[in-house]
Amino acid sequence: MIRAVIFDWGGTLTPWHDIDLVAQWQAYVDVYRPEDTELAQRLMAAETRLWRDQQATNGEAGTGSLDHIWASAGVDTDSPLHLEAMATYLRAWDPHTVADPLAHPTLAALRDRGLMIGVLSNTMWPRDHHQRVFDRDQLLPLIDAAVYSSEIPVAKPHLDAFRSVLDLLEVRPSEAVFVGDRPWDDIHGAQQVGMRAIWIPHSRLGDQAVDVDVSPDAVAATLADTVSIVDAWMVADSLDGSWVQRGEVSN
Ligand SMILES: [Mg+2]
Repeated sequence: MIRAVIFDWGGTLTPWHDIDLVAQWQAYVDVYRPEDTELAQRLMAAETRLWRDQQATNGEAGTGSLDHIWASAGVDTDSPLHLEAMATYLRAWDPHTVADPLAHPTLAALRDRGLMIGVLSNTMWPRDHHQRVFDRDQLLPLIDAAVYSSEIPVAKPHLDAFRSVLDLLEVRPSEAVFVGDRPWDDIHGAQQVGMRAIWIPHSRLGDQAVDVDVSPDAVAATLADTVSIVDAWMVADSLDGSWVQRGEVSN
């Protein structure tokens, strides 16, 4: 029986944008230390290193958080300018974090069916920023539990990342559906822990779009399609109750 639907965030609840990451970091530098002409590049390099480690270790090395980036780029986090610069940096992301217009009706429709909603995001940003973003787009009241990799030692596709959100929702993998845009981190990861996974292939992911051998349980052209897919699975489960968990790990 399906009891929860868990969503990836970037590229799934929020449409994928191609973003100039150095320009985003420059928004921080312009406040914190505009005379340092290399700081944006150092921040970018620190961020890139963290993402590479997460990818290379299949999430065993988590994403880390912004704190890792500040330390690695030599930022003085006690400086009064730092907090103001960080707020400016996060605000510079605002146009790129707006939820898909279908996110609200989709989550609301799933909740109308009595399902819980979870979020599992690979992100370096703090929880309070993600909550502000969800609050702005009226999604916060629709989300029962959210796990951000900035707060845990691992990241998707690591099993423990998926288990973290399953534990918060108090559901078994077979009772949860995962929805994401990344074939390896989201789809393979969720299936590995024993969840059914819906792929929304709308991202232009240079590093993950090809060369991964992953078969999603269903493909959704839009976020809204997840509702009819979950409906069909709920009917099938109720008819024969025979959905066989794929390699669910019992410990
Ligand atoms: Mg994503």
